[in-house]
Amino acid sequence: MESPGNLFVVAAPSGTGKSSLVKALMELDAKLAVSVSHTSRSPRGQEQHGREYWFVTTDEFQDMVAADAFLEWAEVHGNLYGTSKAALQSRIEAGEDVVLEIDYQGAMQVKTLFPQAVLIFILPPSWDELRQRLVRRGDTEPAVIQARMDNARHEVAQAKHFDYVVVNAVFETALFDLKTIVHAARLKYAAQVRHRSAVFQALNLL
Ligand code: 5GP
Repeated sequence: MESPGNLFVVAAPSGTGKSSLVKALMELDAKLAVSVSHTSRSPRGQEQHGREYWFVTTDEFQDMVAADAFLEWAEVHGNLYGTSKAALQSRIEAGEDVVLEIDYQGAMQVKTLFPQAVLIFILPPSWDELRQRLVRRGDTEPAVIQARMDNARHEVAQAKHFDYVVVNAVFETALFDLKTIVHAARLKYAAQVRHRSAVFQALNLL
């Protein structure tokens, strides 16, 4: 599949600060759009249908799988999550830069479909810090924390398949790193040909 816009995929274990970083990145960069995924899990807290996720039943999700409506999908922590083709296609075709905030399994599927996608993995600075962040976030049940830590060890082992790694020790530094990756992707030759075609034409490069 061809994509005139840049496609960024951000993955990280829960508690790493991925959502806060992606939210801050969106606020800084009006040219970035985040794709809203479908999920079979129930809304949490203030989450709204169509804002954080499209909340659907497991049956509805499976119908979409059968109809080949997903670009990628995966089971994460017992729930189903997927990026619908419809959510992405129009934005990518319009040349917009899109961010997918998905798990590593989905990231690998996207890389197969869009080899030029930029895969970014966010790491916690240490296992101790990750555990403390999970506790601070309100996951106080030892069994829940243990399950999240076990998942995190498995997820972190996949970071080697990603193009970039950001260590979220200090939020502002990690945000700067993310911005830098986005900026660098926009400076790649193919991206510049797309966005600065007048310059390339004037220099007889097209
Ligand atoms: P949460 O339920 O905490 O919002 O998300 C749980 C995990 O599912 C996170 O790692 C999140 O990035 C991932 N996730 C969210 N949307 C998608 C999606 O569309 N596809 C995949 N593969 N993972 C997703």
